[in-house]
Amino acid sequence: MAAPGVAEKIILKSPALLKYILETSCYPREHELLKQLREATVEKYQYWSIMNMPVDEGLLLSVLLKIMNAKKTLELGVFTGYSLLTTALALPADGKFHFQITAIDPDKEAYEVGLPFIQKAGVEHKIDFFHSDAFSVLKDLINNGKEEGSFDFAFVDADKKNYINYHELLVKLVKVGGIIAYDNTLWFGSVAEPEETVAETLRPDRNHVIKLNDFLAGDSRVELAFVSIGDGLTLCRRLASTETN
Ligand code: SAH
Ligand code: CA
Repeated sequence: MAAPGVAEKIILKSPALLKYILETSCYPREHELLKQLREATVEKYQYWSIMNMPVDEGLLLSVLLKIMNAKKTLELGVFTGYSLLTTALALPADGKFHFQITAIDPDKEAYEVGLPFIQKAGVEHKIDFFHSDAFSVLKDLINNGKEEGSFDFAFVDADKKNYINYHELLVKLVKVGGIIAYDNTLWFGSVAEPEETVAETLRPDRNHVIKLNDFLAGDSRVELAFVSIGDGLTLCRRLASTETN
């Protein structure tokens, strides 16, 4: 049974409310080059442009990186780079810091759609793009022996079936107190629907995301915050071994 008062605490009661948030507060605050990148993505990818994170989530990501004072991050799943450009703009503008973001995606063509906007924003030097599968790059980072505990933040938005595998590597690569953020943890809301009512195309990833959510809920190495923004964003803060959750 739902706890008393739960219904009243659901913030977004209607699509009109999301539209209101986006139109009053988010679109007016969206960086001009993020807007251009978003529009170029819609033009090229039409429906699949939904893979770019929505503007309200981008603004949250930016604030989060700044309050954490993040300097070194990982990005798994770039697509045309909306979250990547958001991150690059949020990290400190210090000429000494090159390659602050390790960004990984096997789809280079999509990255190149967003690249002109990243260049125009003057932040390309912050990005080290790996045209590759994320798992092999993370493995290499661990094997080189210098990168464990060195990342402030990781944004995970790649193939959902591997999120749990990435997690095992990311809890090593991200420092104690750092954040691993998993995107799309509501999977179009399907995680809360009976499997038979979910569109067949959504089912495999729905099941992977449900497994991830259950796994993270039981993982004592991280503190959790499940944020119902966009398609669901789960923040995991890496705990020290002496810290209790
Ligand atoms: N983070 C982006 C959207 C990423 S969409 C944004 O918010 O703007 C998901 C991306 O994950 C796709 O571009 C896809 O090519 C990539 N992807 C799929 N499998 C991957 C893998 N094994 N490693 C890294 N990226 C992967
Ligand atoms: Ca996403």
